Amino acid sequence: MTAFEDLDLSNPLRNSIADLGFSHPTPIQVEAFPVVRSGNDVVGIAQTGTGKTFAYILPILRDLKFSKQLNPRVLILVPTRELVLQVVEEIEKLAKYITLRVLGVYGGVNLNRHKQAVAEGCDIIVATPGRLYDLAVSKVLKLKSIQKLVIDEVDVMLDLGFRFQILNIFDLLPVRRQNIMFSATMTEDVEALIDDFFIAPKKIAIAVSGT
Ligand code: ADP
Ligand code: MG
Repeated sequence: MTAFEDLDLSNPLRNSIADLGFSHPTPIQVEAFPVVRSGNDVVGIAQTGTGKTFAYILPILRDLKFSKQLNPRVLILVPTRELVLQVVEEIEKLAKYITLRVLGVYGGVNLNRHKQAVAEGCDIIVATPGRLYDLAVSKVLKLKSIQKLVIDEVDVMLDLGFRFQILNIFDLLPVRRQNIMFSATMTEDVEALIDDFFIAPKKIAIAVSGT
């Protein structure tokens, strides 16, 4: 069984994982780590509860350098407010010993409040698609420095009808970026999105255990 020591983690990440009390990385975390770090586009499929959030956060935090710039370099899109809060919390736990600014934004909060938060600067922004788009077109949020785009729960996102919002956001992002997608299921809609926008994606699929 692969141990966290077998992954090329940094000491701050090792320490935060030790604080969390995790004994081993999950299979999707083991497989995703080098692939996400390679810079290729990535599609990861594994059932709910298999640790997909850390599967993309660990390698991203491993390579994100300290910066004072205001524009975010990583964009994580998720379908709901609850997930924004959850992903922000998980990043903060892992980044306990790293100087890093994480911002979560979602609908239902006064837009000006989020504009102010964005103006203060962040390294990683976690967002629902509608709110992200509103902030970007208001020109307060500048997406020109985004190097990595993560779409988490992309199957749910497409089921909720976010395809066009996702495409609108793609138009605002730098062409040269890494696309990373995680999903519990590979649906036809997910396949179509990958075929249309991903460049030679590396696919990681963890089989359902017991089948
Ligand atoms: P998924 O996105 O695949 O549904 P999550 O990323 O939400 O799964 O993780 C599910 C739970 O497992 C979370 O509570 C998370 O903190 C925990 N977890 C993640 N990685 C590990 C690990 N390596 N060891 C133990 N627990 C973990
Ligand atoms: Mg998840």
